Amino acid sequence: MQRGHSEDLNMSGLQIMTYPAPVLRKNSRCIRKFNESLQQLVKEMFETMYEGGGVGLAAPQVGKSKKLIVIDTLEPGGRLALANPKILWTSKETEPFNEGCLSLPGLEGEIVRPKEVRVRAQRPGDGEIITITADGLLARVLQHEIDHLEGVLFIDYLNDEERSSLEPALREMEAA
Ligand SMILES: [Zn+2]
Repeated sequence: MQRGHSEDLNMSGLQIMTYPAPVLRKNSRCIRKFNESLQQLVKEMFETMYEGGGVGLAAPQVGKSKKLIVIDTLEPGGRLALANPKILWTSKETEPFNEGCLSLPGLEGEIVRPKEVRVRAQRPGDGEIITITADGLLARVLQHEIDHLEGVLFIDYLNDEERSSLEPALREMEAA
């Protein structure tokens, strides 16, 4: 018997899509079915995130254009799988943080974002609606991953100076 969607699978599970893969720029679809295959995707996304040494991963990064993210900041309460997450509120106070992304290997940029966020989402297990208020690293990762669901990458926020310093690497990836 064959498993479905074998084109997206390799020996270690899912494959991370890197810039400029078109799926990274799409607005992803809402999740409506909270079934076994969603649980399997969550499990494989966690594995792929840990393998890549990431603290968060969004489904479009593994070629699935769906509103699903997994996060593990390695802090208490920092391990989350969220379906259809939406930012309800952000603090006025902002802070800079050096961000990287598994889909932009080797690149980093200092990005200013709100310090605190409130997010509404559904639990992938049963679809139950939950609300999370976070600050620090968790707030940062939530914003970065939720951006992925709308085709936004951290490089979109770079100031001109940082943009020009990353430009050669981006061009190289675009040409690959
Ligand atoms: Zn990312």
